[in-house]
Amino acid sequence: MRVLENFIGGAWSRASGKTHLEVKNPATGEALAEVPLSTAADVDAAVKAAQAAFPGWSATPPVQRARYLFKLREIFDAHRDEIAAICTSEHGKTLSEARNDFGRGIENVEHAAGTPALLMGQGLEDVASGIDCHTIRQPLGVFAAITPFNFPPMVPLWFLPYAIATGNTFVLKPSEQVPLSQQRIFELIEQVGLPPGVVNLVHGGRDVVNAFCAHRDIAGVSFVGSSAVARHVYKSAAEAGKRVQALGGAKNFLVVMPDADRQRAVANVAESIFGCSGQRCLAGSVVVCVGDTLEAVREALVRHAKAIVLGDGSKPGVTMGPVISAAHRDRVVSYIDKGVAEGATLLLDGRGAKVEGYPHGNWVGPTVFDDVRPGMVIATEEIFGPVACLMRARDLDEAIAIANRSEYGNAASIFTSSGRAAREFQHRVAAGMVGVNVGVAAPMAFFPFGGQKGSFFGDLKAHGPTAIDFYTERKIVITRWF
Ligand code: NAD
Repeated sequence: MRVLENFIGGAWSRASGKTHLEVKNPATGEALAEVPLSTAADVDAAVKAAQAAFPGWSATPPVQRARYLFKLREIFDAHRDEIAAICTSEHGKTLSEARNDFGRGIENVEHAAGTPALLMGQGLEDVASGIDCHTIRQPLGVFAAITPFNFPPMVPLWFLPYAIATGNTFVLKPSEQVPLSQQRIFELIEQVGLPPGVVNLVHGGRDVVNAFCAHRDIAGVSFVGSSAVARHVYKSAAEAGKRVQALGGAKNFLVVMPDADRQRAVANVAESIFGCSGQRCLAGSVVVCVGDTLEAVREALVRHAKAIVLGDGSKPGVTMGPVISAAHRDRVVSYIDKGVAEGATLLLDGRGAKVEGYPHGNWVGPTVFDDVRPGMVIATEEIFGPVACLMRARDLDEAIAIANRSEYGNAASIFTSSGRAAREFQHRVAAGMVGVNVGVAAPMAFFPFGGQKGSFFGDLKAHGPTAIDFYTERKIVITRWF
């Protein structure tokens, strides 16, 4: 069995940890590789390599640093299909979903390649008579990132390109459930010839995370994952004096107004809830139907759900893959059990789904609940599976109130043909990313990405201009010449 290695100081090396986990194809159950659970000593070695690279790298002109990203973009572009296939094998999503996943990652490399312009400061002549003032941005040192299982190629690329473009050095810990896309991405990064230690990869689980949070020589930590761990990382890394951005879990509400284009709205709602098997932080979960829309939405949503082809994401015609693990399947199923026990009406039951020829896959079929009420567990907690919860609201005010009760605030969408309703919704809804007739409100690389409330801990969001703020220190220079 292939045992993955860490990439530290420009070379591949065995982790010092003796424990390994199996990486499995979630559709077939086939073991793909063993991933090491690295130790604090491995983290220390990676941080030392990154620290050693920092003086030379931070002194490299931004234009030259950007040229590495241009090369990286070309290499990534030539390997889109290969990375997508690896992603599907370890994660289960369909090949087209995996291509989009890596595509969104590449867009961050493209955006970060413009860093010379993004890094520019501001200046004002004559702030007082004969005195000028300007700002410069400088890198801080070593940054670390910890990423989740659900977008294996993309999420690490929310951080790596910006960290190095701004002159910092970088250590990544990908999810131990899906380490293979990043393993291959780092092999591709190796080909661009970055100086040793500028980027480093350390495989593992919570010990690596805790070692990052405590390490004296790490300037900042980015985290993406569930809210409980995001809160833990935010607290412990901040206590150790680091910059932290910690993106957490989600419970996203989709509001359908009576004046919406129903056909398009339901197609969007279905894609939002069932796409990537519901394992997206931007996935819709609760559909709030305003006025008399519920009956029509219910019927069309069930029709969409029944048309989904569940199976191995690498096979043509399959439109929904398995969930990541048997444990996660059991968790999603336990939420469906809870919904039934709480009195919601199960219109379509994904429990016990089977796919012929794949007895070891982690299958959950599309599931639709009606009669869901605020306060039910299925209306409150993150399920992270292909489960739709239908709810009714009298008017827009009530729909916004339902969404805003949530402890999360990642994304929310409205479907309407009324500009006034859309404006009201975007203004009042407590979510970081808002869709208007868009079911998955995913900001592109040049905008910030992140939620509010229990979905985000910190102040500077991922990618876009906030990434430049996160990865740089602003210095203010006041000048007078005699
Ligand atoms: P997770 O929290 O289980 O794991 C995320 C990372 O934290 C992994 O690298 C893992 O090794 C590490 N980790 C897990 N438990 C830990 C612990 N106890 N102590 C220290 N580190 C620990 O999340 P996941 O299941 O991989 O990903 C799904 C979650 O990520 C969902 O909640 C989803 O909403 C969220 N997510 C959020 C965003 C966003 O932008 N807000 C994006 C993608 C995913």
